[in-house]
Amino acid sequence: MTSEPGSQSDRAPLDTVPPEEVSRRLRLALDVSKIGVFDADLETGRVTRDAVLMQIFGYGDQPDEDEGDLLEKTLHPDDRERTWAAIDAGIASGEPFVNAFRIIRPDGEVRYIRSRSVTFRDGKGHLRLLGANWDVTDDVMLQQSLEQARTLSETRYEALESAWREIERRALQDQLTGLANRHALLRWLDGLPAPPDGPRPVHAVLHIDLSRFKEINDTLGHRAGDAAIVHVAGLLENLRLEEEWLARIGGDEFAFVLAAGERSEKAAEIADEVIRILEAPIPCDGHLCRCGVSIGLSRTGDEVDGRQALINAAIALSSAKAQKGSRTVLFTAELENRNRAIKQTADDILRGLDDDAFMPFYQLQFDAKTLEVCGVETLARWQHPQHGVLAPDRFLKIAEDIDAMWRIDRSIAEKACADFMRWGREGLGIPRMSVNISARRLLDPQLLASFPTRNLPKGTFVFEMLESIFLDALDGEMAKAIDRIRKAGIAIEIDDFGTGHASVLGLTTLHPKRLKIDRALIAPLTRGERHRLLIAAIVEMGHALEIEIVAEGVETQAQIDLLRTMGCDVLQGYALARPMAASDIEALLRARMAAAGATAHQTEGSPPAAE
Ligand code: C2E
Ligand code: CA
Ligand code: CA
Repeated sequence: MTSEPGSQSDRAPLDTVPPEEVSRRLRLALDVSKIGVFDADLETGRVTRDAVLMQIFGYGDQPDEDEGDLLEKTLHPDDRERTWAAIDAGIASGEPFVNAFRIIRPDGEVRYIRSRSVTFRDGKGHLRLLGANWDVTDDVMLQQSLEQARTLSETRYEALESAWREIERRALQDQLTGLANRHALLRWLDGLPAPPDGPRPVHAVLHIDLSRFKEINDTLGHRAGDAAIVHVAGLLENLRLEEEWLARIGGDEFAFVLAAGERSEKAAEIADEVIRILEAPIPCDGHLCRCGVSIGLSRTGDEVDGRQALINAAIALSSAKAQKGSRTVLFTAELENRNRAIKQTADDILRGLDDDAFMPFYQLQFDAKTLEVCGVETLARWQHPQHGVLAPDRFLKIAEDIDAMWRIDRSIAEKACADFMRWGREGLGIPRMSVNISARRLLDPQLLASFPTRNLPKGTFVFEMLESIFLDALDGEMAKAIDRIRKAGIAIEIDDFGTGHASVLGLTTLHPKRLKIDRALIAPLTRGERHRLLIAAIVEMGHALEIEIVAEGVETQAQIDLLRTMGCDVLQGYALARPMAASDIEALLRARMAAAGATAHQTEGSPPAAE
């Protein structure tokens, strides 16, 4: 190992180095470190300051000697007292001491100074104070801005946290009633204990739904509706034990989870109590209203967690709602299967619409006097990929529930119109075509666009509508829709007359072209006088109002004969023709025409014989 010449002395301990060399090195170190040095003779008051110190204090870059008032002159007034006190104490202690203060330079700039000092007695016996000062402004500033940033971020964090807590609170609470909402309930249900080796505690779940609540909203306004909901929430809340959960999980729907044990065992009784309480008149913004109550009841169990129990309660509820009056329905596996099948059908219906699987069947209608074909009713059929051709009883209700029936109606109407126009061109001689129109389809803006009424005689197209539509049609949107239909030259028939609640008033104001007597009234016709009288009365009333009468569901020759003598205008039923596909209708009509032609040929000029 080699060493540089002279390096030995450079590295030698200070006490072996000559004093001038030590002083030179210290000077160098001080210059580099930007530490200023002062030396005050406390007896004479004179102070010497090196160039660095003068620079720190902002008084040029030359060493200086004065009477000691430089510090006094530059000390920040706020720090003055404290700084002098520290110096006095330091001197008195005889020990090295530190100090920290601000100065104001002549140019007005404030700097932060730190100092370390020590007293000693010199050769002359004078007490002196020797010290080093250095400028820590940059550090202090950095420290301050760090501190500021920290406080700022802390405040921000607190604000953020409280906003978050508020958001969470709102997200978990129903604003109107203050009850938990669905989200909060699901969270709680998810947290229900599920012991791995013991049975799960059984909680009963009540899914409570107010029926007729929409009517309150519609007739009395939302304020009344809100008041009713708040009132109901209060009533339910009274039934709740502290450890139980009550949540508003929909507009007029509540979920009530009972405590495990005795309470849940008595769930059916509690449900009865809920119905009893909620069926009493409810104050709504100055009115008293009555609601019906439907409840779906289910239970958690080893195989059924909280979420599943809530789903099961909803399935039970939909069954409760499907029945008349207030009631509780208990969830069963059978209900679940039925529900699954309904869901499957709903999916299939939507897919069927996409695949254009709905098509019209046609049932001919006959003039009761001549037994000539006078029209055809269009009936929806579903060409199901697995189950073949299905009649409306297999899909109509579900399609209505999922708001798809109007789309089916539209698809059927378009195909039916195309068929009808073709029959016209081919001279098959069907004077008019009826289609069944659901209430919802009435409001379809494309309703009339499906029917090419122009250039065809008025009444060529006929809309069959249920009595219930006519009740609704007495005002509002429906009335306007019916008006547009009439103006378009489309005739209106009331379908299934006698089963619903069409009023004579409705008949006179809406004045349909025809009434179709429901087949439930036609079936017993030949069984007795009473039934015959009822039909006779309907026929008479219709004719008095200039409304034609159609008898549907005519299944026997005896019925045909009787209805003809009673003055019915149109007959429709299996006894005359079954619903059939377009191609079958065409074949049938061609055969009839050929037969009629042959007869006409034989008995020249005489009218076709009735069948
Ligand atoms: P509806 O309008 O009363 O139609 C007559 C129903 O009676 C048809 O059943 C028809 O097949 C059946 N029928 C005809 N003659 C006889 C008979 O002599 N005896 C018996 N027992 N039944 C007879 P379908 O086609 O199953 O239709 C059932 C109901 O579905 C219809 O009753 C109608 O309310 C509704 N519907 C059918 N097609 C459509 C449609 O395209 N749109 C809408 N919205 N509803 C439709
Ligand atoms: Ca009909
Ligand atoms: Ca009918």
